[in-house]
Amino acid sequence: MIHFVGAGPGAPDLITVRGARLLTMADVVIYAGSLVNPEVLALCSPYCEIHDSAGMTLEETVEVMREANDAGKDCVRLHTGDPALYGAIAEQMVELDRLGISYDVVPGVSSLFGAAAVLGTELTQPGVSQSLIITRAEGRTPVPEAEQLQLLASHQATMALFLSAGLLDQVQEELLAGGYEADTPAAIVYRATWPDEAVYRCTVGTLSECAREHEVSKTALIVIGDVLAKTGQRSKLYDPGFGHGYRSAKGGSTCA
Ligand code: SAH
Repeated sequence: MIHFVGAGPGAPDLITVRGARLLTMADVVIYAGSLVNPEVLALCSPYCEIHDSAGMTLEETVEVMREANDAGKDCVRLHTGDPALYGAIAEQMVELDRLGISYDVVPGVSSLFGAAAVLGTELTQPGVSQSLIITRAEGRTPVPEAEQLQLLASHQATMALFLSAGLLDQVQEELLAGGYEADTPAAIVYRATWPDEAVYRCTVGTLSECAREHEVSKTALIVIGDVLAKTGQRSKLYDPGFGHGYRSAKGGSTCA
């Protein structure tokens, strides 16, 4: 059995209880050494066979999984953050399906939510933005035409950009061309939840300058949007005049 496990954004105690339990029981672990904090591997037993996938191809990774599975061993494939975001798990699942090997997925705390926590922000605030666009700049990996940044920017919703810290000249240009005002708040969050984490607040108009000034070109998330200014209206959920299934309105009617 193969378990895809989210290791969390960096701090070793941000792995889930389920993920940690699977690591303690694993016979074989393949971890994404470029981003996963090796401190989480302290959970593994001394007999656990550990591979760093940073230098491995898809074929080599799947071969390790196949051998483990054939030997009746439990194998954890440890990905940074949550495996469902830019984790390249789909291609592994295709191969495992082809080989008839079963697997499951344990979610993790994405670096996006690590970054939101560090920023002390709510990404969806009433009256500001009720949507979050998760995307990336086009680099060597192509982005579908209909998802070009300029088009996504036209919504002026909260936006989080992965894998884009080294491409901020192009990102800034496209965000401005798409419709964000130059003074829209932005933040570059470097290595959220690691001991050397850093937050650089700027605006859409100063994004690339800010990254250059602080020499950030990787392992950072870019968060854009007016939610960073915390100017939202108060929510209906906790409004005394708004009732719902769990609480009656004080002097108002109850809505489902
Ligand atoms: N599955 C991961 C994302 C992997 S893609 C997740 O859910 O977080 C790798 C990209 O994630 C990096 O280029 C960077 O944009 C972002 N990233 C990963 N860890 C990060 C961290 N601790 N702080 C900021 N960004 C991070």
